[in-house]
Amino acid sequence: MPNKHKPPVTFAHPAFQKTLLDWYDAARRDLPWRASPGVRPDPYRVWLSEVMLQQTVVKAVIPYFEAFLARWPNVEALADAPRADVMAAWAGLGYYSRARNLHACANILANGGFPRTEAALRELPGIGAYTAAAIAAIAFDLPAAAVDGNVERVIARLHALSEPLPGGKPRIRLLAQALVPEKRPGDYAQAMMDLGATVCTPRSPSCGGCPVQGFCSATRAGQPERYPVKAPKPARPVRHGDAFVIVKGSCRDRHVLLRRRPEKGLLGGMMEVPCTEWTPRTEAEQGSAVSACWMPAGTVRHTFTHFYLKMRVFAAGYAGARSEARGFGGQWVRLDELPHTALPTVMKKAVAAGFEALGIAARIGGRGLLR
Ligand code: SF4
Repeated sequence: MPNKHKPPVTFAHPAFQKTLLDWYDAARRDLPWRASPGVRPDPYRVWLSEVMLQQTVVKAVIPYFEAFLARWPNVEALADAPRADVMAAWAGLGYYSRARNLHACANILANGGFPRTEAALRELPGIGAYTAAAIAAIAFDLPAAAVDGNVERVIARLHALSEPLPGGKPRIRLLAQALVPEKRPGDYAQAMMDLGATVCTPRSPSCGGCPVQGFCSATRAGQPERYPVKAPKPARPVRHGDAFVIVKGSCRDRHVLLRRRPEKGLLGGMMEVPCTEWTPRTEAEQGSAVSACWMPAGTVRHTFTHFYLKMRVFAAGYAGARSEARGFGGQWVRLDELPHTALPTVMKKAVAAGFEALGIAARIGGRGLLR
């Protein structure tokens, strides 16, 4: 009986590896976390960048990576930082459990150093299969296959795999692992990432300029964009909620009421304006209404991994909403402290809408409060 997990040998691996590495040597991306050719990579930079790059594009990560590195140049410095500072510095990058795990992981690494096996790396907070493989390959030159969405696409196309994702992922991982060379596995991992990000793109791959076109089954078949085949996704559900922006004071002494979200769960440990639970039913369907002291400030829309959020925003001065503000709990934050507050993007949108309704400028001295 054929072994369905046995990778087929569809082309000569050494020729493929050499072609890809030659291309990488000539066309590698210059990224701030990358070591120069011949220089041993710094595991701290590799780890920090790979955590930031989880579900986030390179362009968005670069300014955050540079700011983190300037402020916390090594893992010991990051471990010593108050967690609230790390969360605030992460604000806007999304997927905030990464920041919590990053700080927890820094504390382990500062004491024990970086483990040097893929399996041991996987034991650390916030490090899954992909990140462990990427760190093992790039920082320690171990023959690990780092398979993210880009690499998945390249492998699916090279082999013209017809099995749809996500069911086809284990097979893709096996095929990816079979291609990893014994020499220069770190450069090879980065070459695959670069190929997926710059040449073998999801739409309109540049097959004409692709270094491994001669090895690619999908381009031979004439329909590279068909791959990877994907099973239809269920529609993303919509959730609804209400947010309340309460402001007190005037001019230079203005404050906004914020509270900290529970440590566990979505946006855990980040700050928020008081808001209702986010549920599949609209507030109108639930029969709830807001009192007359609130000024409608529009609806904020935000996409999370598993749902869309439509959140009505209401705004009020403290004088009018005093009794409700007391019920919300939380703390008053001066407006000029907002840039240093761990306010996730969805909450920045809510605050901006509330400020606009109240006629408050979201800039002080030319500086954006909600960067
Ligand atoms: Fe991707 Fe085209 Fe290169 Fe194949 S030839 S790996 S489809 S860019």
